Amino acid sequence: SKPVRHIAVVGAGYVGGPTAAVIALHNPHIRVDVLDKDPRRVRRWNSPHLPIYESGLIDIVRVSRDGASTCLRATADKPHQSTPTNHPPNLFFTTDSQTSLARADVVMLAVNTPTKTFGIGSGRATNMTTFDAAAKEVALYARPGTIIVEKSTVPCGTAQRVRKMLDEVRPGVDFEILSNPEFLSEGSAVRNLMQPDRVLIGSAKTPSGRRAAEALANVYAAWVPRPRILEIDAWSSELAKLVSNAMLAQRISSINSISAICDRTGADIDEIAKSAGLDPRIGPQFLKAGLGFGGSCFRKDIASLTYLSESLGLPEVAHYWSQVNSMNEWQRDRFAQKVIQRMEENLVGKKIGILGFAFKKNTGDTRESLAVDVIRALLQERPAEIAIFDPCCLSEDIMSELEPVLNATNRERVHVYSDAYQACQQANAVVIINDSDPFRQSPAGQFIEPSIDLSAKTKNIPYYDNSIRNMQYMASKQEGEMVIEGSRFSYRPGQSPICAEDCPDCQSTKLRG
Ligand code: NAD
Repeated sequence: SKPVRHIAVVGAGYVGGPTAAVIALHNPHIRVDVLDKDPRRVRRWNSPHLPIYESGLIDIVRVSRDGASTCLRATADKPHQSTPTNHPPNLFFTTDSQTSLARADVVMLAVNTPTKTFGIGSGRATNMTTFDAAAKEVALYARPGTIIVEKSTVPCGTAQRVRKMLDEVRPGVDFEILSNPEFLSEGSAVRNLMQPDRVLIGSAKTPSGRRAAEALANVYAAWVPRPRILEIDAWSSELAKLVSNAMLAQRISSINSISAICDRTGADIDEIAKSAGLDPRIGPQFLKAGLGFGGSCFRKDIASLTYLSESLGLPEVAHYWSQVNSMNEWQRDRFAQKVIQRMEENLVGKKIGILGFAFKKNTGDTRESLAVDVIRALLQERPAEIAIFDPCCLSEDIMSELEPVLNATNRERVHVYSDAYQACQQANAVVIINDSDPFRQSPAGQFIEPSIDLSAKTKNIPYYDNSIRNMQYMASKQEGEMVIEGSRFSYRPGQSPICAEDCPDCQSTKLRG
C-alpha cells in the first residue's frame, strides 16, 4: 500500500484532538491537520491551554505541534524528562478544511454523533446530521483515492452510507472507506491511545479495501504491536464499538440494581462487588455502585444498539439493552429522592453544596453530567442555593449543561464556585457527585469515604469551623455520597488544570495553520 504522508482529522474534540496528537507524535514524517469548524476551539488547541483536560496531553501536543526543541525549552525545569529530539512540528489545528482535505491521503472523521431527538427513531437512533455534513465536505474536496476513516462511533452500515454519498457527489471517483472506532476513555485518553488494548480496522473485503486497511495499519504500527491491530470487516468493526460500550455500561447497571437490594436489606454493596470481582471470570472493573454512568457515549451507544435491534426486527434484544439505560436513570432518581427524604423533605431556605460536576473524575467534560438530574430534583424542593464546585470544569460549561433544568425563578439559586470551601460554606448538605481525586484521597484509586481531615484546613477557614461542630456524616458508601449538616471532606486546593475561558494567554495566541 502507498505510504501515508498527510492525515486530516475532522473534529478537534475529545477524540479527534488526542488521537491526532498521538498519531503525530509517533509518525514525525506524517503531517496531521486537525480541522474544526469552531474557531474558538481551534484557537485554544493552538494556545498553551488546550480546550480539553487530559493528563499528559499538553506534553504530547507540545512535541508534535511546536516541535521538540520548543518542548525542551518548555520543560527546562525538568531536565530528567526525556523528550524526543528533532521532532518536527507536524500537528496543525486549523479551520481551513478545504486546503487540508485536498492534500490528505487519509481523512479521519471524528465529529460528534449524538442521539436523534426528533422524528423517526427519536431518543434512540443516531443523529447523523453532523457526520453527513462532514462526509459531504470530504466528498467535495478530497483527492481521488483518499482513504476515508470513520473514527466517530456510528451506526452499523455507515460505511455503505458514506459510499453512497460519495458516489452521488463524486461519481466515478475511487475512495476507500474504513471503520476505525476509538476505544479511549476520557480521563485516561493519553494512556489508552499510547497503549491501546486493540486497534480495529474494518474494511471492504476487496483487494483495494485490504490495501487501504493496510495503509492505516502501518500508521498505527509505528507504536502499536502488530498483534493488537485487528483487520476485520466494516460491519463487525462498527458493531464491536457499540458492543464494548454496552457491555461496560451493563456492568454498572447490574451492580447498581444490586445496590438497591442492599439498601433494603442492609447488605454491603462494596463487599458484594469485591467478592464478585475477585472471580477472574468477572473481574473487578466497572463494578462500583454509584450514581450510574454519565458522559456522551454509553447512553447514546446503548440507544443506538437498541435502535439497531428494533430495526432488525429483534424487539427482545432491544428491550434487553434498553433496560441498561432505564436502570441507570432510575438509580439517579433514587439517589435524589434519598437526599430529599434524608432532609425531611424540606429544602426550603437550605443550601446544598454539589461537589463534582464532570461526568466522571479527571475530566472537565460536563456532557450528560450525573449532577443534572439530581439538581433538577433538588430544585423542585426550592432550596435557597445550589452551590457547585468542580476542579476541572469551566463554569460556563456547567451552566450550559444545566440550562434544561433552569427557569426564570430557579436560575438565581444556582451558583458555581471556584473554591470547594466556599461552595460548602454553611451548607446544610453536601452532595458528592463524582469521585474526583480532590474529594477522595485513596491510595490505589480504591473507593473510600470522604477523608476526614480537619486539622490545618479549619484554622484558615473560620466559617468552616462552625459547620463542623454540628456535623453528622451519613455513610451510604455509594458514590453520590451525601454529608448532612456541614461538610467533611478532604480537599487539596491546587491549581485547576484548566484555565478560565478569558485566559489572556489563550486570547492573545494567534491562530496558526
Ligand atoms: P466532540 O463534540 O468533543 O468533538 C466533535 C468536534 O467536531 C467538535 O469540536 C465540532 O465542532 C467538530 N465538528 C463537527 N462538525 C464538523 C465539521 N463538519 N467540520 C469540522 N469540525 C466539525 O466529540 P467527541 O467526544 O470527540 O466524540 C466524537 C466521536 O467519537 C463521537 O462519535 C463519539 O461517540 C466517539 N467517541 C467518543 C469518545 C469519548 O470519550 N468522548 C470515546 C470513543 C468514541
